[in-house]
Amino acid sequence: MRIIKTIYLLFLTENRKCKNVLHIRGIMTRLPSSLERLIDQLRKLPGVGAKTAERYAFRLMEWKTESVLALAQSLAALHQELRYCSVCHCLQDTKPCTLCDPNHRDPSSLCIVAYAKDIYPIESTKAFKGMYHALGALFSPIMGQNAETIDLYKIQKRVEEHSIQDIILAFDATLDGDATALFLKEEMKDWNVNISRLAFGIPLGSSLDYVDPGTLTRALLGRHRF
Ligand SMILES: [Zn+2]
Repeated sequence: MRIIKTIYLLFLTENRKCKNVLHIRGIMTRLPSSLERLIDQLRKLPGVGAKTAERYAFRLMEWKTESVLALAQSLAALHQELRYCSVCHCLQDTKPCTLCDPNHRDPSSLCIVAYAKDIYPIESTKAFKGMYHALGALFSPIMGQNAETIDLYKIQKRVEEHSIQDIILAFDATLDGDATALFLKEEMKDWNVNISRLAFGIPLGSSLDYVDPGTLTRALLGRHRF
């Protein structure tokens, strides 16, 4: 008798759980279309799944109207006010672009980055005063991207035009970053410029115990006189 009662109670619990699921699904299908549209857009962001997008959307509903409008205006301004410079391919909201203007930057050195966003961490150091050039893509043999993705002629033209002496390759320490750096080094060997790449090594403030073998190997190979 006790066993039958237990089975009955379990059945009731499971049935209630199922009803909740159906109930939740029922709410999901009744989401206002404007909210569903917002969730669909938010889901396009990297690292944002369906549940996170839903949470963001409901949180935005709690914002004051002026705050939501300010966010909407900022998003709209991204494409209305920003564009990629036709010379250096960095983002610019002024005319002419100051990042490739020799009157604003040291024209003797050029820092080549993979993407326009990569210049901002370098700029924040205030240690580099030269000009930039964003490739827009890395040479990735594994992904089947060939060297034609890199517009070498444009870089060469800038080197000749401004008599650039130093070229700094500032790429990620990845396979694609290494492949692109090696490719550029080979292609630029007759350009009469000094080519260097950002040093790899031990992060500031870190202990050797916590540095991975790959980083430590690079630090050893890239060591300099002290
Ligand atoms: Zn520019």
